[in-house]
Amino acid sequence: MSKEGQAAILVVACACGILMRGTVDEIVPIVQKHAKESHNMQVTREDVLSRARPEA
Ligand SMILES: [Zn+2]
Repeated sequence: MSKEGQAAILVVACACGILMRGTVDEIVPIVQKHAKESHNMQVTREDVLSRARPEA
């Protein structure tokens, strides 16, 4: 496991089956936008990161 800057890619699997991936700073707005537009849900940065897994 390497920790070099913010380059680590995270993956979030939504309950609807969609997979979203990106760095921490990328994936938070991606998931927030999807949750809002597809599920009318508001999620916090903490919510996103709690669901995020490192890309295999
Ligand atoms: Zn979804």
